Amino acid sequence: MSKIQMTTPLVEMDGDEMTRILWKMIKDDLLLPYIDLKTEYYDLGLEHRNETDDQVTIDAAMATKKYGVAVKCATITPNAARMTEYDLKEMWKSPNGTIRAILDGTVFRAPIVVKGIEPCVKNWKKPITIARHAYGDVYKNTEMKVPGPGKVELVYTAEDGTQTKELVFDFKGPGVAQGMHNLDNSIESFARSCFNYALDTKQDLWFATKDTISKKYDHTFKDIFQEIFDADYKEKFEEAGITYFYTLIDDAVARVMKSEGGYIWACKNYDGDVMSDMVSSAFGSLAMMTSVLVSPDGYYEYEAAHGTVQRHYYKHLKGEETSTNSVATIFAWSGALRKRGELDGNKELMDFADRLEEATIRTIEEGKMTKDLALITTMENPTVLNSEGFIKAIAENL
Ligand code: NAD
Repeated sequence: MSKIQMTTPLVEMDGDEMTRILWKMIKDDLLLPYIDLKTEYYDLGLEHRNETDDQVTIDAAMATKKYGVAVKCATITPNAARMTEYDLKEMWKSPNGTIRAILDGTVFRAPIVVKGIEPCVKNWKKPITIARHAYGDVYKNTEMKVPGPGKVELVYTAEDGTQTKELVFDFKGPGVAQGMHNLDNSIESFARSCFNYALDTKQDLWFATKDTISKKYDHTFKDIFQEIFDADYKEKFEEAGITYFYTLIDDAVARVMKSEGGYIWACKNYDGDVMSDMVSSAFGSLAMMTSVLVSPDGYYEYEAAHGTVQRHYYKHLKGEETSTNSVATIFAWSGALRKRGELDGNKELMDFADRLEEATIRTIEEGKMTKDLALITTMENPTVLNSEGFIKAIAENL
């Protein structure tokens, strides 16, 4: 059998710990036997990030701008414990944060739905994709403890020195205050990423804020979405047979619970933070969530939503058997390969991505799965496989 050829390389970002081990197994058993895999390789493992003063992360993001599609393994975001563990020169920033800042993207997270792993919400039949705006609001706020009576004001000083003031509150006793901001540019990018991704995946787009209470802040989000939709996307949505739907955040939550899924839910930063954890846990498992960063300029970076599965890695280092779920990492590869195929007009590559996903889902639906899924499946007597055994079982189906 001749291998599938690629014309443009994928940007490959290797990572850390247990997911780095899975990464190699996936390539060896599920990709390299079938594809003449072309990648431009960047080692984002923490040791190499430290050696290169984190330049490798920047290079990987720039390469994504050059080629358009990347696939990323989970990586460690250093904290104090990691500083000692890896003898780091500095507490390097989260690679995902660095990449997102360079690509100016929005993250879309979607669960992989399989028979036998049933969502807690019984009417959810199709995936709900959460799009989280990743700039500003409470994540870049300024806070103050108000010690006692006095006024808190918002002051805007224009470049020519003129000032505009708004009273926040006239305190009669101690309390707290908070200032937040966002940028029209960032909201516009977010809106465009969402509209593009909805067209890409042929799913309806929902967006919700609290504009009835927040008549300037949240209302700006609502207005920007509507203006961009009317100007640039209305006709494209009609042609694709999909809709854009705006509602209040509380109404959105109520509708989501009663829906059958199958749409993209765009959320402001905080809502997205909270709702993506709710959706992923209700769909079953973090190990079954995919994640893709989509930039308004049309760059794509695919990854699993979970981390490096540190606990399993330490077991692996001790020579103990692990049963780590590789599904979301496999889907990161299939997502990236499909997108690469789409951009290059490479149908063989796109078909392979479909087959890889089908083989993975079929393996689970046949009752062969890793331990995390065996604990939550509705199937009787599932076969629990180890990390490698599960990938080998998929390879057989493939
Ligand atoms: P984690 O996602 O690795 O693990 C959270 C929990 O879910 C653990 O109990 C783990 O056993 C379980 N789990 C997650 N994925 C699993 C899988 N594929 N199979 C079986 N069980 C799975 O998150 P964490 O423990 O908070 O963080 C570990 C490391 O990962 C940290 O250093 C953190 O910085 C990093 N991290 C990276 C990313 C990323 O690169 N996108 C995201 C989150 C965390």
